Amino acid sequence: MNRDDVLEPLLFENSKPGRADDYLPKLDVPEAPLPGEHVRDDLPLPEVSEPDVVRHFTRLSQLNFGIDTNFYPLGSCTMKYNPKINEATARLPGFAWLHPYQDESTIQGALRLMHELQEILAEIAGLPAVTLEPAAGAHGELTGMLIIRAYHVHNGDTHRKYVLVPDSAHGTNPATATMCGYEVIEIPSDERGNMDPEAIEAAVNDEVAGLMLTNPSTLGLFEEHICEITEMVHEAGGLVYCDGANMNALLGVARQGELGCDVLHYNLHKTFSTPHGGGGPGAGATAVSETLEPFLPIPVVARNADGYCFDFDRPHSIGRVRAFYGNFGNMVRGYTYIRRQGRGGLEAVSRNAVLNANYLRAKLQDTYHLPYDRSCMHEVVLSGKRQAEQGAQTLDIAKRLLDLGFHAPTIYFPLIVEEALMIEPTETESRETLDAFAEAMLEIAREAAETPEIVTEAPHNTPVSRLDEVTAARKPNLRWNSAAD
Ligand SMILES: *Cc1c(COP(=O)(O)O)cnc(C)c1O
Repeated sequence: MNRDDVLEPLLFENSKPGRADDYLPKLDVPEAPLPGEHVRDDLPLPEVSEPDVVRHFTRLSQLNFGIDTNFYPLGSCTMKYNPKINEATARLPGFAWLHPYQDESTIQGALRLMHELQEILAEIAGLPAVTLEPAAGAHGELTGMLIIRAYHVHNGDTHRKYVLVPDSAHGTNPATATMCGYEVIEIPSDERGNMDPEAIEAAVNDEVAGLMLTNPSTLGLFEEHICEITEMVHEAGGLVYCDGANMNALLGVARQGELGCDVLHYNLHKTFSTPHGGGGPGAGATAVSETLEPFLPIPVVARNADGYCFDFDRPHSIGRVRAFYGNFGNMVRGYTYIRRQGRGGLEAVSRNAVLNANYLRAKLQDTYHLPYDRSCMHEVVLSGKRQAEQGAQTLDIAKRLLDLGFHAPTIYFPLIVEEALMIEPTETESRETLDAFAEAMLEIAREAAETPEIVTEAPHNTPVSRLDEVTAARKPNLRWNSAAD
């Protein structure tokens, strides 16, 4: 099926002169030109009825795969259900209609929410100070690493030019270190999926600014030598950055500050249930140790005798990292989520997220290769290499899942796992959904062994089948052209 069949009838092609005429009553006053010099009246707008418009956009929306319609176990993305109450609070007029230039005295409620969110995120991290300004996870990383650099520069320690990054890291980690002017030294993982302490010991010295780690790692595994490793880095005068994009395994269970991390960024749009994807606004709140607090971006939301305020008087600050104060709507959503869960609820989130991932691991590990044979945290990384040998690659398995009503897991990441299938079910899925997904994965494995072409030619039931994704990404055609063009 080609694209036009799917989108048919296109809004423009459905246009019929006069069809929109009934929408308003006939003109019974003299016709007047629209005010303003930039108004154009020569645009070929389609003439369609209101139901045509509604159906067109509703149909388009249904061509998308979303968390509100189906299971979406995309690893390292924490596609949990986004509670609708978050949307209700973010839309409260007192929040939604604020202007960033309003006087502090008129926005005390918003500032209080930000201040309380800072305190809650500090508590979860075990790190005392938080900025809410970064607009996404990678932006939180950049903020955190700029803070680490500012700290070293402040101490006159300008000869540190390396940052250690494990080979399982998310690609944004080495990119961030490089953008901050550092050279990356890659740390290999050992056979249990841990960072190798001996490799750290060999690499760390007084030219190392710090270590960027992820715990649980992107292999979905708890870093077993975490305290030993963070201590080694500190002894050499370096600092430890923790990528906390996915904190869904540790809420209320372990605090990164107590494990030796100096900086932690969160993705509110993963762990704290604010929506993400489609390039929409994220929120990359970043927590730091007491030593690093003076370097936080301005302004920090503070509290004084008169109430809440923006504190700009911070001489060691790295400056602003974003216009105004961050993506406030997502702060309201994340705050709502946290307050609704409460302390015990957050801990239950993590325990259930870990339980669900291990449930899928147990159901699938006899059929799909499990590269690191131990309990996982919030996600499980499997390998499709057995199925690849039978002729159905991981990409094919991912496409076949769409036929069966599931979004694919993350595939081919982490890079160190051959034919990787990175499955993150999250805590918001029922046992029935997990069972149905496991059954689909087992069914696909049977097909790979018996009739691999069903898998390699998938998807069969979706509105469009295999797309040329490279061309779509590199040469996107985003304009409608009439058949005459
Ligand atoms: C998602 C993710 C990031 C980046 O977050 P963005 O909001 O997409 O910039 C960084 N690190 C890890 C481990 C992630 O999963």
